[in-house]
Amino acid sequence: MEKTYKAILVIADGLGGRPTDWGNATCLERASTPNLDRLAREGACGLMDPIRPGVRPGSDTSHLSIFGYDPYEVYTGRGAFEALGIGMEVKGGDICFRANFATVEERDGKLIVTDRRAGRLAEGKELAEALSKLDLGKFGVQAFFQASTEHRGALVLRGEGLSAAVSDTDPHETGVPVAEAQPLDDSEAARRTAAILNEITRQAYELLKDHPVNVRRSQEGKPPGNIILLRGAAVMPHLVPVTEKYGIRAACIAGGALYKGVARAAGLEVIEVPGATGDLKTDLVAKARAALKALETYDFVFVHIKGTDNAGHDHDPEAKTRFIERIDREFFGTLLEELDLEEVHLCFSGDHTTPIDYGDHTPDPVPVLFVGPSIRPDRVERFGERTAAEGGLGRFAGNLVPQLLGYCNRGPKFGA
Ligand code: ZN
Ligand code: ZN
Repeated sequence: MEKTYKAILVIADGLGGRPTDWGNATCLERASTPNLDRLAREGACGLMDPIRPGVRPGSDTSHLSIFGYDPYEVYTGRGAFEALGIGMEVKGGDICFRANFATVEERDGKLIVTDRRAGRLAEGKELAEALSKLDLGKFGVQAFFQASTEHRGALVLRGEGLSAAVSDTDPHETGVPVAEAQPLDDSEAARRTAAILNEITRQAYELLKDHPVNVRRSQEGKPPGNIILLRGAAVMPHLVPVTEKYGIRAACIAGGALYKGVARAAGLEVIEVPGATGDLKTDLVAKARAALKALETYDFVFVHIKGTDNAGHDHDPEAKTRFIERIDREFFGTLLEELDLEEVHLCFSGDHTTPIDYGDHTPDPVPVLFVGPSIRPDRVERFGERTAAEGGLGRFAGNLVPQLLGYCNRGPKFGA
């Protein structure tokens, strides 16, 4: 039996930058990163196209690609991953919808939409409790609703004979009735699912119209959240868990719900770390300590750090640079105090580039760093976009987890 190693993958969201970030340097190049530079000297660097060259990645599709899935095959739309992203338990085969609380008025027996966002209400969680009484027993189907921010939420349908080939109940305009969901193909499953959605419209109105929150909002002259509008039906794909594929135990440490959701779909167990907030204020020392502890019991630990992307979206080079310095000092400083790089392979990268001037994700490749006993060192001495381009790993697309676990002597062989 050959020796196996443990692995840790650290993703700083939107890590990549452009020379336009800050005086002809990227934020990563501008930042002082002695720990990452040490790892670059000991290991090997390269550039990764998160999905493939020229594709602007979303964080969800990019993480699927990093975990070794083909997002063109398994990504069914925002509905499914948004439901995961707000922390819902979603199973393969579930039908997921993006949802809004909205305001309707009854006119001539019709429910006319007067505000598609119910005044961006703040009481979604209270209203969502009422929706736990949605009863689809006569269809043999379960419905789960969860509120997220403001008027937003997600709905998940679970049961046999369901289809995502249904139209939205959200009419996408005001002054018109709530749309009747229609089947979008000839299947019985699509007809049945459309009927279920129309039943949900009826029941949601009954459950919400006299809800104390809405009575109070009406008294205050605010639009009540007395209906939910559904859009973007998507089936949750059946992903082969990486834990199953590689026969490993794996854990995820992340602040943001979307990353916990994708990790859970890939078979990872989520470890909740107090202080891991998924923004620039996150406790990076706590995350490093949690990762060290997780490595005692798990074969593979995935750590997601979000703040770099937030600073990129905010067009704030100083915030992004300082946060990268915190990642180096607080996260890697703590991690490297105890991490045994003779027994563990480490990979650090981003899930895409979020340049300061553009303020959103771009297709540019991101720098990658691998270090550990199996890695052939290269001549790169500093971790950054330009130096990584000269590294021994060259340029490749996604697949960080399969590569990392490959160095750990884990994973199935393709062919004889
Ligand atoms: Zn991202
Ligand atoms: Zn982003």
